[in-house]
Amino acid sequence: MAVEYREEPCRSALNRVKGMAFGWSLNPYMGCVHRCTFCYVRAFEHRADRPFDERYGTSIRVKVNIVEMLRKELARPSWKCESVAIGAATDPYQPAEGRYRLTRGCIGALAAASNPLSIITRGPMIVRDLDVLTEAASRAKVAITFSIPTLDEEVWKKTEPSTAHPRQRLRAVKELVDAGIRVGVGMAPVLPGISDSPDQLAEVVRAAREAGATGVWTNMLFLKPGTREHFLASIARDFPEQLPRYLELYEGRAYLPVEEIKPLRKQVSALARKHGVKDRRERPLDGTRHDEQLELAV
Ligand code: SF4
Repeated sequence: MAVEYREEPCRSALNRVKGMAFGWSLNPYMGCVHRCTFCYVRAFEHRADRPFDERYGTSIRVKVNIVEMLRKELARPSWKCESVAIGAATDPYQPAEGRYRLTRGCIGALAAASNPLSIITRGPMIVRDLDVLTEAASRAKVAITFSIPTLDEEVWKKTEPSTAHPRQRLRAVKELVDAGIRVGVGMAPVLPGISDSPDQLAEVVRAAREAGATGVWTNMLFLKPGTREHFLASIARDFPEQLPRYLELYEGRAYLPVEEIKPLRKQVSALARKHGVKDRRERPLDGTRHDEQLELAV
C-alpha cells in the first residue's frame, strides 16, 4: 500500500493530556502505517473527521520541526520537568523514524534536560537509540513499554498487518533491559475468544520473563466509534465465527465492564508471579530496583 508522508511543522511539541496515567505527551508522527485492526487511534481520527477505515495509516504527518520546538518548550521557566509520554497516539518507531529520526531527537532533547520520559511502541527499531536512551535513563526516569498482546502467529498476522514479529520485539526488550533500561510488556489489547486463552496468555508472560521484562500489564480490547466499525469488519473477514460474540459483548458500549476484565488481569497477575516477572536488571541505570511491577494501565 502506497504511503504519503506530509512534512508539516508543528506549533508545539508537548500536548497536555487529561484523564490518562501521564500528564504530557509527544507524537513526532500522526497516523501509523502499522494499521492494526484494533487501533484506538482510529477513534481519534473519526472524531477529527479524518479517514479511519482502510485509508488509515496511508497518509502520515511528519512534524519535521518537533525536536526544535521541544527544546524551546523544555527551556521555558514555567516547565516543571514532568514526565513526557512518547507515542501515545502513534507508534514513534514506525518506519518513518528510520529516515526522519525525530523520536531519537526528542529523546536526546529530553535527556539533555534530565527530563523523565516514557515510550510505548511495537517497533524494535528502538534499539538503534540505545545510546540516547541510556543517557536519558542515567539522568531521569525512563520507562519503556513494548506492546505485545499475543505470540499467536495467526492472530498477530491478522490483527497487526504491518508490525514487527512479536519475537523480534522480545529481542528488543532483552537488549534494552540488558543495557539497564526499565522495559515492561503491555499485553494489550487482548481480544476475547481470540487471544485470551490460558495458554496464549501464559506464552506471552513466559516469553516476557525470558526477555527480562521488568513488568507486565494487560488490558482488554475497547472499541470506540471509528475503531469499532473497522475492527468489526476485520472480525467478520478474519474470524467470522467470533462476530456474533463481539456484537453481543460490545453492544452499545466501548468498554467491557470491570467485572469482565478482572479475570484477565488476575490471570496475568498470577502468571507474572508464577514466572517471576519483576525488575531483575543487573545494572539498573536509574539506580533502583523494584519488586514485581504490575501496572493495570490502558
Ligand atoms: S502500532 Fe499502535 S498506533 Fe500503530 S496502528 Fe498499531 S495500535 Fe495503532
